[in-house]
Amino acid sequence: MEPVLDKATMIRPSYIASIELSPRKWPVNVEDLKADLSDEFSLVSSNLDISQRNSLDSKEHIQVCLRIRPFTASEKENESQDCVSIQDSTSIILKGPKNSMICQLSEKNVGQMVQKFTFSRVFGPETTQEEFFDGTVKQPVQDFLEGHNRLIFTYGVTNAGKTYTFQGTEADIGILPRTMDMLFKSIHGQLYPDMDFKPLRCKDYIRLTKEQVREEIAVKNSILRLMKEVDSQNSINNHSKTSESSEDLEELLKEPEQPNTSMASYMKFSVWVSFCEIYNECIYDLLLPVSNDKKRRVLRLAQDIKGCSYVKDLQWIQVSDSKEAFKLLKLGLKHQSIACTKLNTYSSRSHSIFTVKMLKIEDSEPPNVTRVSELALCDLAGSERCTKTRNEGDRLKESGNINTSLLILGKCINALKNSQRSKLQLHIPFRESKLTHFLQGFFSGKGKVYMIVNISQCAYDETLNVLKFSAIAQKICVLDASNAPQDHPFVQKSAREVSLINNVDTKIQVARKRATVLWDRSLEDVIEDDDDLTVDNNETHEEHDMAKEMPNEEEENKVIIGKEDYLRLLNIIEDLKSKLINERKDKLLLELKIREEVAQELTQYLAQQETDFRQCLSYERELLEEASEQRLEIYKDLVNECAKNLDEEQEIKDSHCNERAGMLDNTVTTIKRQMPKENSDGTIEGTQSSESVKHGLDVGRKHCFESKPTQEEEPPTKKDTISTTAEQGAFRKNLNPMSEQKQKFAIRKLYHLRRRKSAKLNAK
Ligand code: ADP
Ligand code: MG
Repeated sequence: MEPVLDKATMIRPSYIASIELSPRKWPVNVEDLKADLSDEFSLVSSNLDISQRNSLDSKEHIQVCLRIRPFTASEKENESQDCVSIQDSTSIILKGPKNSMICQLSEKNVGQMVQKFTFSRVFGPETTQEEFFDGTVKQPVQDFLEGHNRLIFTYGVTNAGKTYTFQGTEADIGILPRTMDMLFKSIHGQLYPDMDFKPLRCKDYIRLTKEQVREEIAVKNSILRLMKEVDSQNSINNHSKTSESSEDLEELLKEPEQPNTSMASYMKFSVWVSFCEIYNECIYDLLLPVSNDKKRRVLRLAQDIKGCSYVKDLQWIQVSDSKEAFKLLKLGLKHQSIACTKLNTYSSRSHSIFTVKMLKIEDSEPPNVTRVSELALCDLAGSERCTKTRNEGDRLKESGNINTSLLILGKCINALKNSQRSKLQLHIPFRESKLTHFLQGFFSGKGKVYMIVNISQCAYDETLNVLKFSAIAQKICVLDASNAPQDHPFVQKSAREVSLINNVDTKIQVARKRATVLWDRSLEDVIEDDDDLTVDNNETHEEHDMAKEMPNEEEENKVIIGKEDYLRLLNIIEDLKSKLINERKDKLLLELKIREEVAQELTQYLAQQETDFRQCLSYERELLEEASEQRLEIYKDLVNECAKNLDEEQEIKDSHCNERAGMLDNTVTTIKRQMPKENSDGTIEGTQSSESVKHGLDVGRKHCFESKPTQEEEPPTKKDTISTTAEQGAFRKNLNPMSEQKQKFAIRKLYHLRRRKSAKLNAK
């Protein structure tokens, strides 16, 4: 039955209310309704422009490498328990001793706690500094040489071997000196000899005037002089706390040079380094000479127009070889805040950050900077338990600050992980500590992040926390924006030009951040001030002159606009952006409404179909019942007719008998009438004739009932009596059970016939 929709009761959805629906010719493809349109309508996805989407492809997890420190002499003496066992090159098993605090506090305080942790790579206690460098840092240094930004930082509790890994000892230098060594070996013969290009802020550079170049040289010389003093002091005290001796360095430099053949020979490199520390939430330049009153100048974190943080007024020194770089490292370490704690005699009380910036310069006339890349190496101070370090006074304050900044780093890592899971931009508290504020750029797409986790084999409770932290850190994906097109000429430009040209898209980015990220204003930062612009202005003049001399095609394509126009354009962009967001919101709401209405319509349609089918079903059932009843009636009639025929036959026979009986009666009456006459004639005759009557009656009776077909059909009659009309009635009555039997027999026969028929049909 064709389902009929009651069109009058169907509510037309609002969005099609004004349209006349044409009848459907094809079945509706409901699959289409399931299409996920969230991407098209999502506000989240709308926040990512195409370039961001493309660059998302280069998102990678933070690389986390684990290094296990060997037992120290004292640990061996105290027979400290080994709680770490290496499973394979990427995983370890941590077994908790029963007396551990965490095990005791654990709800499941049953037996030993065993946990497995997986890393990008695991380095056992026997790993040499060289093996460790080759396995972890070589790749990011190579990437840095190719123009990418990289961050490498150590993480672990105090006395876990972070500084050993970072700086190394006289006998075995750490990753930082090895990095410098590899760097200068790779760019050997391609070093840019002059000092006229200097990195500026985050990703920019400036071209120094001759005067500024002279100043730079003077600063470098004074620092190198300082270095000599440090060297002589060291030789007097004979107390070198870190790094290799000059002999080690010479030995390293003796190794055959392997210049990077992949780099074009017309490309030159200018390497600049800076070294600073974050001590008690203050940033200090470690390359600045300490004044007589021992008061160091506190530096501030600033933000460039693109929202990248950098340390304002940090000293950047150009280095010509790895020797100079080592000297600067040594000088910085001399100024670093180090103290003797119960756990570590030379415990770093601050986070130290050694940054290398490399300008890739096209050695043409005039030279052209094509890329600025950054490699930041951070040796973080270790978290520590006051109960273990037994710190007091200044040391307690230091460890409090260290722990706080590490705690905030943990908070940021956690928030980043949650943010990536929920696909929503959550607030990341980067600005709650100087360390995280400084690292923010790398966690927000500046470049890949490498984390070196140092653990000892015995401090179970602390190690467990460190490992848990690194497990979370591993889950974070970091965008590497430095994978962007390489070596596009920066085109000589001043900071002002940089900002003006890039403002349109950078401001959008800043505005986007404003719209989505709740910035924490607890830490004040400095936006580029006039000082910077003065330097840039000087440079601007120079560069404008240059530009006049060498008109460049790209330069010609650029339009420099006035500040007012620029601000007006920015406002328009902001306005359009908010309009776009509102439009998208409306679109999303409309889509939700449409989906709801379509779903409603479909539900109604299905409900209607269901009732129609129900009706159809009950109607068909009625029809079937009627047909079967009719059939039954026919069968009954047939059976009754059959029984009736039998009755009629019997009646005919009975009437025949009656006739004969009547004839016999007549004969008897005639005989009886004749009998008195004969009795008067003689007694013997009379007796004889009565006998003959009797005989005649017997013969008649016999004759009458001779024609009965079977014995069982014979009506029950009294022996030797003549059947009367009453008896005949009883006989007819007795015929009824017989006809019922016949009915049954007929039904059975019909049933068998039908079965045989259906069996035949089935067989066909
Ligand atoms: P942290 O910086 O984590 O507080 P350190 O790097 O100062 O710890 O190391 C503490 C001690 O352990 C130092 O004496 C160091 O020489 C030693 N040490 C650390 N790692 C190793 C290692 N892989 N091999 C030999 N000694 C090590
Ligand atoms: Mg240390």
